Amino acid sequence: MTESVFPAAPRVVVPVAQRDAVFPVRRIHCVGRNYAAHAREMGADAREPPFFFQKPTDAIVASGSAIAYPTATRNLHHEVELVLAIGLAGSAIAVADARRHVFGLAVGIDLTRRDLQNAAKEAGKPWESGKAFDASAPIGPIRMLQPQESLPRAGRISLSVNGETRQDGDLSDMTWHCAEIVAELSCLYRLEAGDLIYTGTPAGVGPLHPGDRVVGQVAGLDAVVVSIVAAQ
Ligand code: MN
Repeated sequence: MTESVFPAAPRVVVPVAQRDAVFPVRRIHCVGRNYAAHAREMGADAREPPFFFQKPTDAIVASGSAIAYPTATRNLHHEVELVLAIGLAGSAIAVADARRHVFGLAVGIDLTRRDLQNAAKEAGKPWESGKAFDASAPIGPIRMLQPQESLPRAGRISLSVNGETRQDGDLSDMTWHCAEIVAELSCLYRLEAGDLIYTGTPAGVGPLHPGDRVVGQVAGLDAVVVSIVAAQ
């Protein structure tokens, strides 16, 4: 076998709840503005079609971790999101077939360098530095969908900082529901087992600071818990 010139990066995995197993991550897709109230707080038309961006796979952070306040920002924001974990590949997936492509669900936080994102938006430049930075994708354990279980259409989604509720919404307020997101995204990219889809955030996004303890929750799923610590 041809020698590697340096050790390969460790594989990125997410624990599977109640099983001695991990979900190996391939890609991280994210949906922009998928709750009307959050779209309004970002100054957008609530009814515009979904759009997608990606984060690097190694942006995953396990629940329970401490995250160093990121470089190059003075306005790190939290966005709690339901995450779909894809277990079956497909492209041009029909809405009615989307369920069978989803292995499980988790709670994630789409950490955002809001100042960089806003500057990029104003300049008509890509958002990448505002969204796709190191440690920007905390996620809780993935709960497997039960064989007869459908994709969720309702349920509380919330986030607290130091015990104070900052985001409090419901999955029923998603502009595009889970099956529609899978269908739409699969027309842009072939989905593969190991892909994660962060499905957008409800209203109430806001800043985080060193010392903060952040808890993201979705009904029926294990919470994601991270703390923000001073930059090293
Ligand atoms: Mn988001």
